[in-house]
Amino acid sequence: MEFLPRPLFSADHEAFRDQVRRFCEKEVAPHHASGEQAHGVPRAAWQLAGRNGLLCCWLPEEYGGPGGDLLFDLIVCEELGRIGATGPGWPLHSVIVAPYIAHHGTPRLKQQVLPQMVSGEKVGAIVMTEPGTGSDVAAIRTRAERRGDQWVINGQKTFITNGHNADVMVVACKTDPERGAQGVSLFVVTSDMPGFSRGKNLQKIGQHAQDTAELFFDNVAVPDDHLLGEVNKGFKYLMQELAQERLLVSVQCQARAEAAFEWTVQYVKERQAFKQRVADFQNTRFKLAGLFAELQAGRAYCDRLIELHLAGRLDAVGASSGKLWHSELLARVTDECLQLHGGYGYMQEYPIGRAYVDARIERIYAGTSEIMKEIIARSVCDDIKK
Ligand SMILES: Cc1cc2nc3c(=O)[nH]c(=O)nc-3n(C[C@H](O)[C@H](O)[C@H](O)COP(=O)(O)OP(=O)(O)OC[C@H]3O[C@@H](n4cnc5c(N)ncnc54)[C@H](O)[C@@H]3O)c2cc1C
Repeated sequence: MEFLPRPLFSADHEAFRDQVRRFCEKEVAPHHASGEQAHGVPRAAWQLAGRNGLLCCWLPEEYGGPGGDLLFDLIVCEELGRIGATGPGWPLHSVIVAPYIAHHGTPRLKQQVLPQMVSGEKVGAIVMTEPGTGSDVAAIRTRAERRGDQWVINGQKTFITNGHNADVMVVACKTDPERGAQGVSLFVVTSDMPGFSRGKNLQKIGQHAQDTAELFFDNVAVPDDHLLGEVNKGFKYLMQELAQERLLVSVQCQARAEAAFEWTVQYVKERQAFKQRVADFQNTRFKLAGLFAELQAGRAYCDRLIELHLAGRLDAVGASSGKLWHSELLARVTDECLQLHGGYGYMQEYPIGRAYVDARIERIYAGTSEIMKEIIARSVCDDIKK
């Protein structure tokens, strides 16, 4: 059984994949259960990843990065997915948080923050969602007010991935509350700023090795050069960067779905029922054949989305369609694969059981399936291309 070949990865990428695979098997997989119990991974794991060149691979050398391309970071994401690791949140740090700073930060801010994100000394988070609003980003209430030569932030955020460990946070704030989406700006807040505090590490139903936290901002004074880009342009930057965030979800879902499938193929070949292998029942064979075909389609679709993105041609509709499709693919695959494991599939100790629960969030974060459909429907029904 072989999935479709992936010509977009070069020999260098494949050599890097081998290295990341060995790293994940040696340094991540053995500690994953303790990460799940602790609801997060220790900081030392971040630094080890940094020393091994696994963080922000796409960043140029002037910011401490290896000057690779995005494919290297996507490989890290795929290899974590392959072993069913839900933490550490390296892909979010490298592929979602660092780009905001690299694309919109001042030269000084970039020098201050990015090399330490590459080394794993600093952990990044993207901070949009609030207790009162998630899908409707324009309705956020966290306020940044200009006072003298700095900004003062007040408000509360929730569900923030890496939030319990984060040192560097890209925070969406209202700078002009009367103007809705046109009144949003992005700021880089660091955890050492007075007035910043964290709430509890939230107890989720899945993705237990990933920390997710509430964050509080009580008169946090932020220097002017921590504003990303221009004031009141934050919503535009979010929409630009969200395409890459949604692509990352597609990549992650495809990798996790392939892993779930492979575990299941192995299981049904070993498990006996009615004096034959579970793999010998026609139902099992047809189910797996159908899933294999879906995974092939998913891989081709995912790689095409990556290619389009690398060529600068993946728009919001394209990224939303992929996120919708791949997150729902993962839900179908993990459900069918769990069923083929019978009762063992429902046990925590089997990776398929955990993967089934872990998959559920993919249809919610980075924009829910309903919001993805809204974005797609606007272009289909109203001829709005965004
Ligand atoms: C584990 C986890 C990690 C997360 N990580 C982060 C993070 O790192 N940073 C961050 O900022 N946020 C993060 N989030 C937040 C996540 O992005 C939001 O939960 C998500 O966008 C949905 O927002 P909400 O929870 O407020 O739901 P709501 O917006 O309240 O939605 C509730 C329901 O209404 C539906 N709905 C809303 N609007 C519409 C509409 N216009 N049309 C049709 N249906 C609609 C939704 O689809 C959903 O079914 C995370 C969440 C979780 C659970």
